[in-house]
Amino acid sequence: MNGNTVSAWIAELKMWPLIVVLIPNLMFRRYGQAAGKKRMSSLLQAIAVFLITTMAQLVAARGLTDNYLYIGVAVVAVLLYIFRERVFPYRLSCAECDARLDFKTIYFMDDNLCTDCHSKKVAEKEAAEKTAEAVDNDETSQIESEGGDD
Ligand SMILES: [Zn+2]
Repeated sequence: MNGNTVSAWIAELKMWPLIVVLIPNLMFRRYGQAAGKKRMSSLLQAIAVFLITTMAQLVAARGLTDNYLYIGVAVVAVLLYIFRERVFPYRLSCAECDARLDFKTIYFMDDNLCTDCHSKKVAEKEAAEKTAEAVDNDETSQIESEGGDD
């Protein structure tokens, strides 16, 4: 036993762990901006996996001991903990009504809302945008009338 069996085992996996975490990232495309934050989270998770596999490969290639890998993993773990809200923004229940969320919402959707609350929010947002538009129009007409005073 040369003291780097763990590193050697991870190094044996080559790029596969990274590929496995990156595949779901491609599926984010279809949800667009509504999944922007979680898409970033899944990228950050992929970076963490990449760092750990790269360190394992270095340790195995240079014949170092697994202790270097453990230190590296500890550093990555601390970083993941510090940025936990960005890396793991998942909720199992609706942010509004505590209903259980389906997998799609948990994994992809940034708003963490169940279907009911989501459609309510969308309706509210549309209403708010209409009011904002109306206010905008008012302001523009005011500016126009002020300009007309010259
Ligand atoms: Zn809800």
